[in-house]
Amino acid sequence: MTTEQPSIATIATSNALAARELEWAQNSPELLLEHAAINCGIVRTRFPPEPNGYLHIGHAKSMNMNFRLAFEKLGVPEENRRTIFRYDDTNPDAESAEYIDSLRRDLEWLGWEPERTTYSSDNFQTLYELAVKLIHKGLAYVCDMTKAEMEAQRDLAKRRSSALAVGEDPDVEAPIPSADILPGRNRDTPVERNLKLFEEMKLGLHDEGSLTLRLKMDFESANPNMYDLVAYRIKYTPHPHAGKGWCIYPNYDFTHGICDSLERIDYSICTLEFETRREPYYWILWALDMFRPKVYEMSRLNLEYTVLSKRRLLKLVDAHHVRGWSDPRMPTISGLRRRGYTKEIINTFCNDVGATRAMNVVQMDKLFQVARQTLADTTRRAMVALDPIKVVICNFAELAANSRDGGMTFDVQNSPTDASLGSHTVTLTEIIYINSEDFQLDSNPNFYRLTPEKPAGIKYHGGNLVCSEVIKDGMKVKELKCHLDVSEGRPKPKAHITWVPSDGILCEVRIYNHLFLEPEPSDRWEEELNPESETVHSNAIVDPSVLSLVDKKDVDKWKSNQAFQFERLGYFVVDVDTSFDSTTKEGKLVFNRTVSLKEDKAVKKVSNIEAEQKRKRDEQQRSAAAARDILMTIEPGDLFKVAPEYKGKYSAFDDTGLPTHLADGTELTKSARKKLEKDRAKHVKKFAKTNQ
Ligand code: ATP
Ligand code: MG
Repeated sequence: MTTEQPSIATIATSNALAARELEWAQNSPELLLEHAAINCGIVRTRFPPEPNGYLHIGHAKSMNMNFRLAFEKLGVPEENRRTIFRYDDTNPDAESAEYIDSLRRDLEWLGWEPERTTYSSDNFQTLYELAVKLIHKGLAYVCDMTKAEMEAQRDLAKRRSSALAVGEDPDVEAPIPSADILPGRNRDTPVERNLKLFEEMKLGLHDEGSLTLRLKMDFESANPNMYDLVAYRIKYTPHPHAGKGWCIYPNYDFTHGICDSLERIDYSICTLEFETRREPYYWILWALDMFRPKVYEMSRLNLEYTVLSKRRLLKLVDAHHVRGWSDPRMPTISGLRRRGYTKEIINTFCNDVGATRAMNVVQMDKLFQVARQTLADTTRRAMVALDPIKVVICNFAELAANSRDGGMTFDVQNSPTDASLGSHTVTLTEIIYINSEDFQLDSNPNFYRLTPEKPAGIKYHGGNLVCSEVIKDGMKVKELKCHLDVSEGRPKPKAHITWVPSDGILCEVRIYNHLFLEPEPSDRWEEELNPESETVHSNAIVDPSVLSLVDKKDVDKWKSNQAFQFERLGYFVVDVDTSFDSTTKEGKLVFNRTVSLKEDKAVKKVSNIEAEQKRKRDEQQRSAAAARDILMTIEPGDLFKVAPEYKGKYSAFDDTGLPTHLADGTELTKSARKKLEKDRAKHVKKFAKTNQ
């Protein structure tokens, strides 16, 4: 029986462990043998989302890695692959039953089949017992430091460790006066006291925030995650899964590794921001002498023009910037589903993106391209008029009488490239509707569609539509009187426009654009939302043939997210939202655009706004550069007298030109003068470099 854990090569490249970490990460031969005997050749990963929001496409990347890619990289035969779906539910404040349900629904919808579903909270009792074990070992203690004290302690430890790293005196001043801030007054308290207090915490005898259980780790570490992590805190919030039995909850770091070990996980894969948590992960399992899975980090999926963080997405929902987690503009699995993205599209995209440690932002167009490729072969076509103009074909009766079959019905293949998808019929009627964009009053030579002067062909019927009268309602074109030219010598039209017959179905069509104006939303992301991320065409008319696939009375049928290609407009899906007014459920058909046929005007519009923003940024950069140039002409002795940044702030200077008094006459403190001296020293360097 082999007891070695092979590595996931492409991720492993930067997975070098520090010497100490290496020791903690090492499984003893006994542990390896025991693990191998239990797993019997099975290789196990896990996908552990916290139920504090809905899953997004970044999670889909993680699922693709944990359910498929990792095994492929490791060469694990299909029959030996196992993945646990774990709710990492240790923070009842942020978690809810709604999120628990949504996570499961989305995972199943994406087609992943976990070996089993577990909850971290199912291990609360075991975790508690292991914490007691650590107290017994002298590796955990109950701490009564306040949050502010702990922050100060952390800050101090950080400054000491950076001083040590550069060979400076580690005896830095404490940020707040306190007798025993580092290593803290509770660190070396007796085991009995800690057992007693921890028991009292569990029994609810102490207030929230008054006590924590901390791990006795290492304040001299370069990794702040080793500064005596809090393993347990008091919280009087009932748990959405575990119920009311607990008022102390383990934190993420304490729980995560232990659950991995208990569940016999071989490879614990997370995203790069957890890299510094690897050390405490291994420390905890080392301290408890438990099996240590191999930890790997891969880069997070970042996607242009959106945010992939549950915390930010929740803000969008709470601030009503979108209509909930499943709004089609959201990058959540449920939002994408409602927008018409199938599991094939999402999983293919994730597979294409792969899993490496390279940090990058993936272009949204990559996802769009996968969608187009997938939908092109599977959707059936239909014609729609987004903003319809009524067209009366004045010679219709005459044409109909002359046509051999007495009608104007055409058989249209559902997919022009795949006859096996069948066909549907479209029928020309005396009154038809065309899209307002296909008609223009002015005869612009670059406009190839219908104008009062220029005829246009109409799709599926060979004739030319010739406009003879325009009826307006104010400025708006309301109706066109036309005739169909079917004469032998009619001109060859430059364009064929789409149309919908008089029995077309009234519907609403929602066209989506990027949620954000910036490809990489900044810290001020809420100000960068695209105000035109959704355009609603509420009086659109669609060809009645769609009803053969969409039964208006049977909403359940639409749950399959029936998709269409609306000719010249893109791929659309029937909206299955039942929570928003004027939805499909209420009898009005609603279609969401999944993706345009190719990069469309709306996207270009965003590009224009971006171009404007870029222009502004460039201008700011130029003026900042100009200010820097001016600064470089200022002699160091005059810096505080003439540089725009300081000018007018001071009233007196010493011989070297260093300010001694503020403009209002107040004397500058020693530290303020020191800071200015530093500023001047920097300026001296730059000045010398520029003017040498
Ligand atoms: P969020 O910030 O969105 O809440 P998280 O990392 O806290 O993300 P969890 O629910 O804890 O989310 O994540 C479950 C798993 O999914 C973790 O292993 C996490 O690393 C992974 N994951 C989350 N976001 C991404 C992403 N954008 N790309 C790849 N993996 C991700
Ligand atoms: Mg999280």
